[in-house]
Amino acid sequence: MKIKKSNKFVEFFKRFGVYVVAGAIVLAVALTFSITAIVNSLPDAVDVGGPNLKFSLPMTNPTILKDFSSTALQENTTLNQWEAHLALDLQSEDNLVYSVLDGTVTEVKYDYMTGNVVTITHANGLVSYYSSLGEDVLVKVGDTVKGGTQIGKATATANSELLMGDHLHFSMTLNNDKVDPNNYLDLQNK
Ligand SMILES: [Zn+2]
Repeated sequence: MKIKKSNKFVEFFKRFGVYVVAGAIVLAVALTFSITAIVNSLPDAVDVGGPNLKFSLPMTNPTILKDFSSTALQENTTLNQWEAHLALDLQSEDNLVYSVLDGTVTEVKYDYMTGNVVTITHANGLVSYYSSLGEDVLVKVGDTVKGGTQIGKATATANSELLMGDHLHFSMTLNNDKVDPNNYLDLQNK
């Protein structure tokens, strides 16, 4: 009798256990969706600029050769492929490149695909990247710059976009995530 009772209890627990596990999975999935929804809604809620951050344009009267796109694919004729373009490709008459905001130069490097790149770190978790610059970069790591300080000249050193000719491949991050520079730069009313 004792053994029989025990078996019944085990059977019951086994069935009960299934519901517990199923319940836990449902809760975990629901929680994941909730957290994802909260995280996704954060960037819009963050006050990135504020009235004290005054952006200037990285070029004078620039033409947008290729716009920012995080989802729609755009053709890269150099690499012969379609890709998201998490940056702006800009061109101007003199192709001189300026810092978009006060900040500190945190990296100056050459990369085969992106050419000469200057990285400037600003306030509020913002960083700006100036790619495809010529050899004559005018700043070095540690330099403090103002918005509008010339940092170099756009050329065609970025081999990944070689066929576009001389241009600036400009991108920005907010807390290490790529963001659309159009949200900060007034390119429509240049
Ligand atoms: Zn580009």
